[in-house]
Amino acid sequence: MRVIVAVKRVVDYNVKVRLRSDGGGVDVTNVKMSMNPFDEIAVEEAVRLRESGVATEVVVVSAGVAQCQETLRAALAMGADRAILIESNEELQPLAVAKLLKAVVDKEQPQLIIFGKQAIDDDSNQTGQMMAALAGLPQATFASKVDVVDGRVIVSREVDGGAETLSLALPAVVTTDLRLNEPRYVTLPNLMKAKKKPLQMIKPEDLCVDVTPRLKTLKFADPPKRSAGVIVPDVKTLVEKLRSEAKVM
Ligand code: AMP
Repeated sequence: MRVIVAVKRVVDYNVKVRLRSDGGGVDVTNVKMSMNPFDEIAVEEAVRLRESGVATEVVVVSAGVAQCQETLRAALAMGADRAILIESNEELQPLAVAKLLKAVVDKEQPQLIIFGKQAIDDDSNQTGQMMAALAGLPQATFASKVDVVDGRVIVSREVDGGAETLSLALPAVVTTDLRLNEPRYVTLPNLMKAKKKPLQMIKPEDLCVDVTPRLKTLKFADPPKRSAGVIVPDVKTLVEKLRSEAKVM
């Protein structure tokens, strides 16, 4: 069984992002970039499926600039078998990525396609769902447990007020939630080994996909500044302030 994992290169989650001086977006000059954390979880899950003998091959796919090769190498170092970079310098919006991944899925015919539930840069939470819809495949989002049994994938997902378990016929699309697993650390020897694993470079044109952006961002803005807090001398003053100033009582 082949598993495809979609992997996005994003600004590292530890970086405090700043707006560009022209206000046209986030400044990514000299900023540390990493694999989207939910995609690390997706790679980990796919590698575990291969290690347990359920999957036979894990293929990681990224769409974006040439530097995404680093992200793919990190996924190969985690244990993926081969990688595909759909190289583009265009802004790739979720619908375009969903179409690109669908074209790869048509070629590669995987049984399971795992996405992160969302990319921490755009927080769209759309790409996996749109890809599943475009490919006409069943989907289970926000997975906190994944088991492949008798040609089906059984997915537990947390929903309001409890947990839900879905059983999907393969091939299927799954998106990962934080609780699914704890991704392994990439070791230096594995990073070295990953350099020898196959990484195929293709272009959106090779997949006959039009990646023209459909959405236009009108404005980026910093969140409003928080005013400094005050220390009150006693509970009585606190209650008075909550009543007269904050007006929450
Ligand atoms: P989003 O819909 O942008 O929040 O992204 C959800 C998931 O789609 C991510 O966690 C990735 O698994 C996948 N994804 C989004 N953009 C890309 C990309 N450019 N390349 C590969 N995978 C992507």
